[in-house]
Amino acid sequence: MIRVLKRGLFTFLLIALIIGGVLWASPNTKKAAQIRALDKIGDVAVKRMSSDPRTQGSVAAEFINIPIEAREIAPGIFQATGVGNAHLITTSEGNVLFDTGLVTQVPKQIKALEPHLDGQKLTHIILSHSHADHAGGTKYWQDDNTEIVAHEEFKEEQRYLSDLQEYQWGRNRTLFPFMPETPPKIGLLAYGGIEPTIKVRNGTPYKFTQGGIDFEVHALPGAEGADNVVLWLPKKKILFAGDFFGPLFPQFPNVFTMRGEKVRKPHEYIQSLEKIMELDPVMIVPSHRNPVTEKAAIDDGLRRMHGATKYVHDAVIAGMNGGKSVEDLMVEIQLPAELSLTQEHGKVSWAVKSIWEYYMTWFHFDKTTELYHVSRESVNADLLELAGVDALIGRARSYMDGGKPLEALHLLDVIGDTSIEEALILHEAALEMLKSNAENTTQNAYEIYWLDYKLREVRAKLGD
Ligand SMILES: [Zn+2]
Repeated sequence: MIRVLKRGLFTFLLIALIIGGVLWASPNTKKAAQIRALDKIGDVAVKRMSSDPRTQGSVAAEFINIPIEAREIAPGIFQATGVGNAHLITTSEGNVLFDTGLVTQVPKQIKALEPHLDGQKLTHIILSHSHADHAGGTKYWQDDNTEIVAHEEFKEEQRYLSDLQEYQWGRNRTLFPFMPETPPKIGLLAYGGIEPTIKVRNGTPYKFTQGGIDFEVHALPGAEGADNVVLWLPKKKILFAGDFFGPLFPQFPNVFTMRGEKVRKPHEYIQSLEKIMELDPVMIVPSHRNPVTEKAAIDDGLRRMHGATKYVHDAVIAGMNGGKSVEDLMVEIQLPAELSLTQEHGKVSWAVKSIWEYYMTWFHFDKTTELYHVSRESVNADLLELAGVDALIGRARSYMDGGKPLEALHLLDVIGDTSIEEALILHEAALEMLKSNAENTTQNAYEIYWLDYKLREVRAKLGD
């Protein structure tokens, strides 16, 4: 998740000075100086985000303020906490790292884990996927002999995330307005450039034994992208899950995310969940928040996540075959009580829509105009002229009085970008009604972020 919440806030002046200072150094001292510089940038970022009123009470503020410290979660296994956790599995024949956290937090995570390295080299870095909050610290941990283990799709995911960085940055900044205006361009913080040396394929786990510990890296796609892997320690029955479950366990998964990424395959995700149930973990270690150690909670969480995803998936297919519209299905499909899960992150109605579009893509086989470039909105001015602004506002108000904010918003969209106070006040009321509905039902964070963004826009026009 929040791949982008925190690529770092910084001042260019500070960075220019720091980079200037490390240009002449030898490779080792250069790396040490870079890490010191990053640490300072990280401190500035936390300070800036923590003092920004727009982060108050948000998940982002909660994550960025997690203290960075090492804790032993199982004998010889250490977790460095942070926005994204980094995990060190120590062995007598060299250490293994699973996920490397956020680039601005790597200095503190290295410092926290250093006492536990025991003078051993780092033989492998295993990356759960290509998101910046999981792979950000890689180049600061690796040395010439460290194997980088990742999914064979890792590089392609990294490529498109790099290529579309500016576009996605704009979207994410809409949801997380405290982000800097543009993505970091300087090398220390820049996303990408990771070259996996061992590539894991779907259906073929990569296995090795080191210092008496068996390691298995399983490709389990369909979660946060096509390049998800998990680390399984079969003797200990510990699963390092990365972002496989998302930031909460259990939860209704973000089948694919509204902030926009490449599609995630729902059926693959169901199969990946089945694979995890087959492994039968006694401990789940996600790369966000705390390990889950209670077996009954693990089993119940897996059952619900698998059951709920499959239920929604199968109901969409049945509905499509039964001739129902995607909008009808978004309302009709609800989780049965025995599969209920929080929808703070993933939302059932959005999963319905995304599964529909995953199978049938862009043309809904409905309106002829959908095949062409002239949008329905392009005739808003005609509708406005024909109906008149007062009639539209009056009808929008009736819809609001009847508790129908979406119908009201459609009519207000016809009026478009306006300074008419009555229209703006109705617009604000419709958004507030949607927000209060979200807060009283799913509490979906992304829905609330979006509504807050739109509320800021309309309130700015009202001069509030
Ligand atoms: Zn993440």
